[in-house]
Amino acid sequence: MVVPLSPPPLLSTDDPVSAGPMPRPGVLAIDPYVGGKSKTVFDGQVYKLSSNESALGASPHAVDAYRSAADTLALYPDGGATALREKIAEIHGLDPAHLICGAGSDEILQLLCRGYLTDGDNSVQSAHGFLVYALAAKACGAEVHFAPETDLRADVDALLGAVDDRTRLIFLANPNNPTGTWLPAHEIERLHDGLRNDIILVLDAAYAEYMDDKAYEAGAALVKAHDNVVMTRTFSKIYGLGALRLGWAYGPPAIIDALNRIRGPFNVSTAAQSAGVAAMGDQAFVRENRAHNTSERAIMFQRLQGLGLSVVPSAGNFLLVRFPDEVGSRAQEVHAWLMERGVIVRTMDAYGLTDYLRISVGPSDANRRVLDLLTEKFPGESAP
Ligand code: PMP
Repeated sequence: MVVPLSPPPLLSTDDPVSAGPMPRPGVLAIDPYVGGKSKTVFDGQVYKLSSNESALGASPHAVDAYRSAADTLALYPDGGATALREKIAEIHGLDPAHLICGAGSDEILQLLCRGYLTDGDNSVQSAHGFLVYALAAKACGAEVHFAPETDLRADVDALLGAVDDRTRLIFLANPNNPTGTWLPAHEIERLHDGLRNDIILVLDAAYAEYMDDKAYEAGAALVKAHDNVVMTRTFSKIYGLGALRLGWAYGPPAIIDALNRIRGPFNVSTAAQSAGVAAMGDQAFVRENRAHNTSERAIMFQRLQGLGLSVVPSAGNFLLVRFPDEVGSRAQEVHAWLMERGVIVRTMDAYGLTDYLRISVGPSDANRRVLDLLTEKFPGESAP
């Protein structure tokens, strides 16, 4: 017979305990992340511009490495991702001991929350900062403080103003998804200078490789100089390995040590590690992809503006476009209209940006298609 250690709780008719096992408080208050759609009813050529994936796919070397990994499917991966950390360290000039790899940078963001947030703590992010931060923090019983932005750009003073004595983590995507806006190195330093040293500043540089502005710094310099800064990176964007789920972080030894203690022992597959090494080794591919993005983004920006649409200047591989609040032209309607014609873009309701659609910069033919369709939809304006 099992003897209860304490008296059983009194149940009321609406007590959820009577409904069976319940997750920890707060979990059911989380709205699950909804990724970009990938299917449409259209039966012709479909263009997916909804998830900021690589316009040029992956490096052929990465594809070959992935195929070769089929030879060792029965074997567990290297739990320490040694070769991959060494390759990242070589390319970025970092110490491999201060790196950790994860199943996407999403996993690393989750590990940071699991490692540093407990019930009643909070994390800070900007109003339209990447939503995974909030989901990961809430899953750990934390609250999320959203700091107002200025013109859809993170505001350092507002972020600092959102910090209180229970803040443990502050997340900043730089450039940010979905806005595409970014902060220069001196602004990030000012943000760091305003934080207590028991708060971790997480610089999410998922789109760093698309940047070409001298005032930008992805975060490594700040990590090197301080004990409370972590930079996260991904192979899902310019490296084109989204399907493999591969990301990494560079951080102070004490934080990397904590994350290593709580991660799964084999959290990154052999296929992902092998493809990651080859992808990192092919920097010519990265340059080609960046050049494609820079020129295509400029064309898209100009043509969309020419249609009379308001477009947020973006440093990433996507553009956030505002649609008029008029019947037939609203973001939701345009989204559905494009879907019916085989073009998938992203609605922004989850970010509270209901008037906006986010359009990834894709291969040239996909970009032309969405631009031509939008020109058909907004014919009144003079397109250049
Ligand atoms: N950070 C930002 C800002 C992102 O946009 C994304 C992907 N949408 C991620 C992190 C997560 O990337 P992954 O888990 O694929 O590495």
